Amino acid sequence: MSRPLPLFGAHLSIAGGLQNALYAGRDIGCDCVQLFVKNQRQWNAASLLPGQIEAFRAAQRETGLMPLLAHAGYLLNLASPVAQMRRRSKTALLDELRRCEALGIDGLIFHPGSAKGDSEQVALRRVATGLNEILRKTEGFRTRLLIENTAGQGANIGHRFEQIATIIDRVEQPERVGVCLDTCHLFVAGYDFRTAEGYRGVMEELDTVMNVALIKCVHVNDSKGRLGSRLDRHEHIGKGQIKKSGFAHFVNDPHFARIPMILETPKGKDGRGVDYDKLNLKRLRSLIRR
Ligand SMILES: [Zn+2]
Ligand SMILES: [Zn+2]
Repeated sequence: MSRPLPLFGAHLSIAGGLQNALYAGRDIGCDCVQLFVKNQRQWNAASLLPGQIEAFRAAQRETGLMPLLAHAGYLLNLASPVAQMRRRSKTALLDELRRCEALGIDGLIFHPGSAKGDSEQVALRRVATGLNEILRKTEGFRTRLLIENTAGQGANIGHRFEQIATIIDRVEQPERVGVCLDTCHLFVAGYDFRTAEGYRGVMEELDTVMNVALIKCVHVNDSKGRLGSRLDRHEHIGKGQIKKSGFAHFVNDPHFARIPMILETPKGKDGRGVDYDKLNLKRLRSLIRR
């Protein structure tokens, strides 16, 4: 039997209905899919109707896509120094977690937020406090909350492994939390994994600081920005600063067998009319050493 491989997928649009992300994923050859469970640029959203949930679950049965990931809204900031903003963020993330649980989504990915002038330690503690409140209100949920590493733009926290480890250390139900590792963010945050030696070093550091088993999802994005630039601009696989060789280490790492690897690369079609997600999936799969 061949060894288990990562599961490849893409973030796909929910225009016209949540289930459309799954059908689009099937059509381009995804194993797994990521989607938004509400408009990612707005605070409020109407409750999901039973019919919407049923249509989504039917689409999952039909397409067999697994696991399913959701990305939380962009407005959230559990680390904010402003109490009202933290409250709003908690309510919104709680609502998204409930949607995910209803839809049978395995992981909800969110960014830890921005310290906005406060100290890093205070900001990290606020994120953990917010998470604990959400976890207490959702006892027994299957959907795991996944903290995404960030590019470290501005006052954003979560670009160092130590910061993510600090949050998880303070979480009361750590088994319900994990990490989503974004390759573009990792690279622009200063972790150089382009060579085999560099990759080994970064993974050893990750494992020492926060345990590689916490990684439940990888966002596979090449980077327009240079190493350490903290610039969050995603590029097609192999076309940016990371290059194909950097991704080869990830897709062949036994730690990531059966782990979803999701594309968040630019959308559209190339000069020959081929869908970019399809091209990037093909490129990633071509890097697997048999
Ligand atoms: Zn990402
Ligand atoms: Zn990004």
